[in-house]
Amino acid sequence: MRSAFSALSIILTIFSAAMAQEPAARFDWAQAQPHWVKPIEPFRIIGDLYYVGTEGLAVYLVAGERGHALIDGGLAGHEQTIIDNIAALGFSINDVKYLLNTHAHFDHSGGLATLKEVSGAELYASAGDRSALEGGTYLGFESRTAFKAPPVEADLYFFDDADRGNNPKSSLQGVVISFGDSATLRSEDTPGHSRGCTSWRLEVEEAGANYDVLIFCSATVAANRLIPPQYPGIVDDYRLTFEKTRDWNPDIFLANHPEVFFMKETREKQKTGDALAFVNRGAFQKYIAAKERAFDTALETQMREASDAN
Ligand SMILES: [Zn+2]
Repeated sequence: MRSAFSALSIILTIFSAAMAQEPAARFDWAQAQPHWVKPIEPFRIIGDLYYVGTEGLAVYLVAGERGHALIDGGLAGHEQTIIDNIAALGFSINDVKYLLNTHAHFDHSGGLATLKEVSGAELYASAGDRSALEGGTYLGFESRTAFKAPPVEADLYFFDDADRGNNPKSSLQGVVISFGDSATLRSEDTPGHSRGCTSWRLEVEEAGANYDVLIFCSATVAANRLIPPQYPGIVDDYRLTFEKTRDWNPDIFLANHPEVFFMKETREKQKTGDALAFVNRGAFQKYIAAKERAFDTALETQMREASDAN
């Protein structure tokens, strides 16, 4: 019995050594999705909110007099594009004090580890995405090499039940980051697309008027399995997000994939002198209603496939 056990241990040791030696051949997303890494001119969206991402992956800078917040990190290996964009706008990566994330999927969290190191900023993230951030994985697809991201630890996890009452900066309601005289950023729990999918609400001022901005995480099913679940509770999480957002009607709806809010076309309109080009009241309602219908269809399809397989 004992010798069988040690033989098994040796086999396991050899197996894990072989795994460790095998270079992690990373899927080349830059080649598959060239617009994800294609640099574009950064610009001010409205108020103290700036676009510092690439053509195909949004990264936002909220500029404050006592420090900035950066939302999302893009794809790993392309952090310099973001740093250069921040500099081109007259700001510095060294003044970024808060790193935030919409969700821990490689195309939005991949750059966070490097950006954290370079900026020295604190990363605030939702507890639901903790395992994915720290493991550098996509929850439920832990072994998929193409979906991996450099692991990163947050300085603070919010929406954390275990943390309740123990951390003055964190609560089940999330975090509020105040930039003093300018903007205030507030997290909103919108789970489903990832377990910790976090949307960000922001109040900005432009020419004496206030605007309510929503940087929405996502509600697409995309690569997620609903049946069997990508993670336990995923279907309820999507439902919660659709329920919660039903009456949201921000003045400005933005997302982490810029085509969702027609960024390219809107930026052209802005360039012609329309300072309020990004105001798109009603756009979120249309978006989220379409996503709920798509979710229902995907759930039906996956249920049918599951019952056919049995
Ligand atoms: Zn995603």
